[in-house]
Amino acid sequence: MPEFRELLDGYHRFRRNDYYRHKGRWEDLAEGQHPPVMIIACCDSRVDPATVFDLVPGQAFVLRNVANLVPPFQSEAGLAGARSAIEFGVTGLGVRHIVVMGHGACGGIKAALAGGDQGAPGHSFLDNWISLIDGPRDAVLADHACEDKQLALEQAAIRHSLANLRTFPYIAEREAAGSLKLHGCHFTIGTGRLLLLDEASGRFVND
Ligand SMILES: [Zn+2]
Repeated sequence: MPEFRELLDGYHRFRRNDYYRHKGRWEDLAEGQHPPVMIIACCDSRVDPATVFDLVPGQAFVLRNVANLVPPFQSEAGLAGARSAIEFGVTGLGVRHIVVMGHGACGGIKAALAGGDQGAPGHSFLDNWISLIDGPRDAVLADHACEDKQLALEQAAIRHSLANLRTFPYIAEREAAGSLKLHGCHFTIGTGRLLLLDEASGRFVND
């Protein structure tokens, strides 16, 4: 099983190349992080925000989870990993932008469209997590004019996550005050294209 060895080989390349070239930046970053942007993206191995947005270390505070979903502020109790990251990004780091990045061929969205029982047998954390978008899923399935339900739900889930972000009181306050902006976008893997959500029209458009 060479996969972990490949990771370590990559680490040594990083030490020789990027770290060596930007050693001063890494030393500055050790003093603290001040990212202006938070990105909420999918776990999918093909859609790393650092690659899509050509990020440098320290530029973005990133939360990744299955299907880039945001639970509403008030939802069932639990170990709220996603919500605690959002809380820290906004109230602790004071990010000025939150970007929800969905993507094409999303397995989480596909599982939602297929209905429950997509995760492990018995209790499935995955099924429970994906149930966050039961509402948009039902709306997409009921729309008989919609031919590409996968894309429609990928886009609807981005809108849903933005709406749920606005249920966090400190996000709503900052957005109203103009100190925080929310953005939605959708990345297509095969073409490498990113479309931005125009919230006025609800459509995804080129930059
Ligand atoms: Zn995905």
